[in-house]
Amino acid sequence: MPENRIERLCVDKGMKMTEQRRVIARVLSSAEDHPDVEEVYRRASELDPRISIATVYRTVRLFEEAGIIERHDFGDGRSRYEEAAGDHHDHLIDIQSGEVVEFQNEEIEQLQKKIAKQHGMKLVGHRLELYGVPLGRDDKK
Ligand SMILES: [Zn+2]
Repeated sequence: MPENRIERLCVDKGMKMTEQRRVIARVLSSAEDHPDVEEVYRRASELDPRISIATVYRTVRLFEEAGIIERHDFGDGRSRYEEAAGDHHDHLIDIQSGEVVEFQNEEIEQLQKKIAKQHGMKLVGHRLELYGVPLGRDDKK
């Protein structure tokens, strides 16, 4: 199994990488969406049927605490995960289908810095989730 990005980060942070942790790291590294723990478990089971959901929970938490993956809450009460990549983006969630759109907007980024500055602070991070429904015919006018 070739080493993936998450696995490499774990090794760099001095984490002990068991075979099962490597499988979970691989699942999260190759995910292009925002899977919840159950989905990570489903994908990991395909690679290694011996993995338990408890192991997935523990490992995901470990990765999150190490800052290697990010946890999101998209309003449905389930924690979803993605690799804490260098390219910052925010999320727009379709509350009907659950589809998640990733976007970047320089105006929003600048505005947030400005707001922090107005309150005497330097912005070090933020979390932004927008919730929407598809436009109806009337909304498009
Ligand atoms: Zn994302």
